[in-house]
Amino acid sequence: MTPPPCDRHKNLEMVPFGQTLIDVCPVPSCGRCHDDQGYFEVVDGKLVRGQIADTNKFVVAAERMVNAFRARAGP
Ligand SMILES: [Zn+2]
Repeated sequence: MTPPPCDRHKNLEMVPFGQTLIDVCPVPSCGRCHDDQGYFEVVDGKLVRGQIADTNKFVVAAERMVNAFRARAGP
């Protein structure tokens, strides 16, 4: 499956994150992510997307994921 483009950087394909179903925008300052439910991002430790009820577990996972990705991508 081809990763979707970032919805903010439509000329850039998102990068698959490890063994997850999540793709991440390659632009470090963007932080946009995409999974099978659509686009989301992590802002101030909270996963932000349209409407979501209980995402505590996923917020932690997504935050770790984004941090790990940024650490690997460098400044
Ligand atoms: Zn982006």
